[in-house]
Amino acid sequence: MKNLDWKNLPFSYIKTDYNVRYIYKNGSWGDLQVSDSEYLNMHMAATCLHYGQEAFEGLKAFRGKDNKIRIFRWEDNAQRMHDTALGIKMEPVPKRIFKEAIFTAVRLNKHYVPPYGFGASLYIRPLLVGFGAEIGVKPSKEYLFMVFVTPVGPYFKEGFKPVDIMICRNYDRAAPLGTGSFKVGGNYAASLISLEEAHKNGFSTTLYLDPKEKKYVDEAGPANFFGIKNNCYITPASKSILRSITNLSLQELSKDMGMKVEQRPVPLDELPSFEETGACGTAAVITPIRKIVDPETNLIYNYCKDGKPGPVSTRLYHKLVSIQFGDEPDQHGWVEFVE
Ligand SMILES: *Cc1c(COP(=O)(O)O)cnc(C)c1O
Repeated sequence: MKNLDWKNLPFSYIKTDYNVRYIYKNGSWGDLQVSDSEYLNMHMAATCLHYGQEAFEGLKAFRGKDNKIRIFRWEDNAQRMHDTALGIKMEPVPKRIFKEAIFTAVRLNKHYVPPYGFGASLYIRPLLVGFGAEIGVKPSKEYLFMVFVTPVGPYFKEGFKPVDIMICRNYDRAAPLGTGSFKVGGNYAASLISLEEAHKNGFSTTLYLDPKEKKYVDEAGPANFFGIKNNCYITPASKSILRSITNLSLQELSKDMGMKVEQRPVPLDELPSFEETGACGTAAVITPIRKIVDPETNLIYNYCKDGKPGPVSTRLYHKLVSIQFGDEPDQHGWVEFVE
């Protein structure tokens, strides 16, 4: 194990020893290459630099009490990156290559997988970019698929604590028929101004509304939204949000716990009726929401009135984290060991 300050690991980039790369060229994917460089050498006219042919994924590897390393739901990330690639006319990465890449990257950097007990994990970042030179607007004929890893601490230093968020009225992260359902960097670029405004006003993130009518809840920055009421887990259905794998897991766990699950449009005026709300994604798993503020109507929706996360969110959070770290049986077949 590397000698890092595991207890105070930030959620930011830390150099590891190796990354892995594949090049798609002349109609086929080449062999796995292992690199110890943090840099890419690419053509200045590569389509990822000019026309946004860029897709990424994010997943994690966890070290259990038994010292074994587990990767969580990688096949879902492989499928999502496949769908994203088709969505912006990139060459999809075959599942076999996706698997070989992430497992090799984790294995080669296994000394960076944080020890059990700190809530820390190894973040895995697959990246697919248009690599060939084009000046006209067209898909690249060449692609780079790479995976790097970095050890991360919990997303929020304070841990599992409720945050305040702000409804975003002046910006959208995606268009109604745009790329909101794909994990592409462009959606993130489009979110930066509103995110900074939210931070400046003391909010942790923004809550986006559906870009067409501004009547429904879409998602909370780079995390899906859910609400809990009457023993039901409710999460928006929308064409402009990303299918969060954490959200899918929470839906399954909710059913296991005897709750109902509804995925459907969530009108803004339903917000006051929720007992609990939260944001979910790989980075933080669940971020409980204490308060949602609407800057247009000045309405404030309050949850967790005693300042603590709600009971259902708390139970879901601990359940999912326990499965990821191997403390509880993996009944859904979500984890795969790195040998
Ligand atoms: C990655 C991402 C999420 C979270 O997805 P997970 O698979 O749970 O990590 C949610 N929304 C957006 C826009 C994202 O890019």
